[in-house]
Amino acid sequence: MDELLAIRAIPDYPSAVNGVQLANIGDIERIATAVDFSTETISGAIDVGARLLIVHHGMFWGGVQPITDHRHKRLWMLMTHDVAVYSAHLPLDVHPDLGNNALLAARLGLSPSGGFAPYQAIDVGLSGTSEIPTRTLAERAAALAVGSGGHLVATPFDEERVTRRWGICTGAGADSATLRDAVARGLDTLIVGEGPHHTAVEARELGIVILYAGHYATETFGVRALGERVADHFAITSTFIDVPSGL
Ligand SMILES: [Zn+2]
Repeated sequence: MDELLAIRAIPDYPSAVNGVQLANIGDIERIATAVDFSTETISGAIDVGARLLIVHHGMFWGGVQPITDHRHKRLWMLMTHDVAVYSAHLPLDVHPDLGNNALLAARLGLSPSGGFAPYQAIDVGLSGTSEIPTRTLAERAAALAVGSGGHLVATPFDEERVTRRWGICTGAGADSATLRDAVARGLDTLIVGEGPHHTAVEARELGIVILYAGHYATETFGVRALGERVADHFAITSTFIDVPSGL
């Protein structure tokens, strides 16, 4: 997975700690995948007999904290069941086949032709051209959001509006920097997971429509695809543990 995802070459936030986060001892004959590292996803992994849990938001996402309460429970559950943890954050967002952005674009019927949303030396998101009614795109994004127990939030737009230049950045994809980048690239529609309130206000003034489809809903693709790729390679089984965050 480190090689497949170019884990060492792709920059990330310090708390991402990409790669193996917790080792185990026994053989791995079954794996589980989940968007988030939590007591519930660990339970799900244990219930299916997985000895490896692959997550997008890893064990250290909340920063350095005492290993007490639910944090202690998580580790105790993992170690008593000999379950390892592997995490891939931005390397899994940006991967051309297994990435959250590429797979979300495909799900929405969009073909990427470039990048979007720079972080250090890489573009985290994708962009491309289309000739699709914004309403149609919003309906597809809404179906995705509802499928993960959420709902679509969209900035206002006219019924006849057409999306010609779009940008996708899954998860917390909308912020001041991505809006600036969208303007620089001439994008008219952004599809993201979530973003702060001011991005919706600014978008209207910039003539950009933002579709917020949910952080969780836009990030189930990558871990699922990675788990299936690994399972195929080793002729084992991968199970996606679906625990929507509600956001
Ligand atoms: Zn995320």
